[in-house]
Amino acid sequence: MPSCPRCNQAVLVTAVTCSNCGLELKAHGHPGIDLHRSQSGSYLCDTCVYHQDDSCTFPQRPQATTCTLYVDVETAQQPMRAASEIYVIPWWRKHSGWLMLAALILISIALVII
Ligand code: SF4
Ligand SMILES: [Zn+2]
Repeated sequence: MPSCPRCNQAVLVTAVTCSNCGLELKAHGHPGIDLHRSQSGSYLCDTCVYHQDDSCTFPQRPQATTCTLYVDVETAQQPMRAASEIYVIPWWRKHSGWLMLAALILISIALVII
């Protein structure tokens, strides 16, 4: 469960404001829009991927202390996991075509014999 950056009170993931100190946790009052905050007087833009690639056009750049689009450079540079690491296809699905063909042949032979 996340905690409030101001008072460290545990808050729900969907909480729009902190129930203890009233700090705004989500942007525009919408639980689906994260509001990122800088820590201890630093600026978010210093570690934001959109500042580094010079694609941000927000007026608060480069001194944003809150931002909805912030993406940490460290997080963005982590390698994506390959699909094969996330989902392993079972052997019978890999060879489902051959299995169906074998079943069809066996059924055909059974029909000829009977
Ligand atoms: S997206 Fe936000 S944090 Fe990132 S550079 Fe722009 S203003 Fe700064
Ligand atoms: Zn709080």
